[in-house]
Amino acid sequence: MSLAKSLSDALQRKPVCHCLEKVVDDRGRDPSGGWLTRISGGRPAVLYSAGVGRRPPRRGSPLHLPTFDYRRPQSLAQALGWLAEFGPRAAVLAGGTDLLIALRQRLLRPELLVGIGALAELQGVQPCADGALRLGAGTPLTTLVEDPLLRVRLPALAAALQSVGSRHVRNVATLGGNLNLPTRCWYVNQGEAWRQARPPCLKTGGDVCHVIRSARECFALQSSDGAVALLALGARLELARAAAVREVALDDFYRNDGLAPTTLDAGELVTAVYVPVTPLRSTFLKIAPRTGLDYGLGTVAAAVAGSNRRVTAARIVLGSIGSWPVRLRGAERIVAEGGLEPATIEAAAEAARADLGELTNLYSTAGDKRRLARVLVRRALAALRRQPEAQAA
Ligand SMILES: Cc1cc2nc3c(=O)[nH]c(=O)nc-3n(C[C@H](O)[C@H](O)[C@H](O)COP(=O)(O)OP(=O)(O)OC[C@H]3O[C@@H](n4cnc5c(N)ncnc54)[C@H](O)[C@@H]3O)c2cc1C
Ligand code: SF4
Repeated sequence: MSLAKSLSDALQRKPVCHCLEKVVDDRGRDPSGGWLTRISGGRPAVLYSAGVGRRPPRRGSPLHLPTFDYRRPQSLAQALGWLAEFGPRAAVLAGGTDLLIALRQRLLRPELLVGIGALAELQGVQPCADGALRLGAGTPLTTLVEDPLLRVRLPALAAALQSVGSRHVRNVATLGGNLNLPTRCWYVNQGEAWRQARPPCLKTGGDVCHVIRSARECFALQSSDGAVALLALGARLELARAAAVREVALDDFYRNDGLAPTTLDAGELVTAVYVPVTPLRSTFLKIAPRTGLDYGLGTVAAAVAGSNRRVTAARIVLGSIGSWPVRLRGAERIVAEGGLEPATIEAAAEAARADLGELTNLYSTAGDKRRLARVLVRRALAALRRQPEAQAA
């Protein structure tokens, strides 16, 4: 059969998506129990999904997963028990939209994957007695984006989650996975063969940084869109380990460190996110090369309480620009003191540049990032000013 005929048959048989492929490990099993959207790579993945040319990928190829054990716990307690037993030798598999790519790129080689997708304890959106919303960490982003309570009460969060990847990604990607998204770097988030062309860097066991030659720290970027919105909304995380549960403010969860970007311990799971529903106006904006697929070149979330003339609290956060979501404390102070007036908005946008600190030229130049920060802050504050003040009552 000719390739053209195979392709045309394939497309007729599987009219679902042009980039679906089955995920198999070394032993030919399907650890995720489902289908995964593949974003890049030269090979037309529809050939796999349609069964045409159903040749397993070559061992060691970027399409081939390394060997690991896979366990699907029946309860949260069982998952935490396994994570405690294996410690750093285990990895949590939620939607797998990031983790499976990292495994293929040999950025991780865990002995055990703990699939938390089926845990009921991690699902859903529930209002709490104090008015906050509890978002289960295992809830898929599409479910959150479509939740009426979340859309009405936390529109900035709905917008941020809606901006993650594509619909296919959001259908399987979870909130917990989004908040624990590893930092990314152009030199590291590549196939193993590509990386081997240069010496390992600080993130891959070496002692150099290819982005800043003289650096002794890693500047890989934090690109989680959910983190930016949830920080602006003052969210808290519930973290569980085998013997204990703790709560931590999202402000204290992220670190300005590309190598260890969160304070999550080995053996710990994010189980839920609590978002206070205070009388805030909030907004989220993202600038990306392609809307609806790409990571942001820069994102901003801002929330204010009070009227335009008298702002009683303000939180402004920039994302995808450094190794953590950056709180713009100087800009926040200017807005809290001067309100959402045109002159104050301009002053806050200027102050954003100073709040950013040292920047790299990862994915875009440092100069562009500073300009982007100013534009994003100006647009976000102007958008808040336009929102009806009655919302703040
Ligand atoms: C094409 C494409 C586009 C993308 N675009 C964006 C984008 O624009 N914005 C964005 O923010 N992200 C983007 N992503 C990244 C990713 O899809 C999302 O961040 C997603 O929400 C990750 O969730 P997941 O459930 O698939 O995580 P997984 O891949 O399963 O896990 C990601 C990491 O989080 C850890 N983890 C997962 N759940 C938990 C938990 N409950 N507790 C502790 N650790 C946990 C995993 O061990 C792993 O290290 C994109 C991905 C792709 C493939
Ligand atoms: S910023 Fe430097 S150390 Fe960090 S991943 Fe990139 S090259 Fe490696």
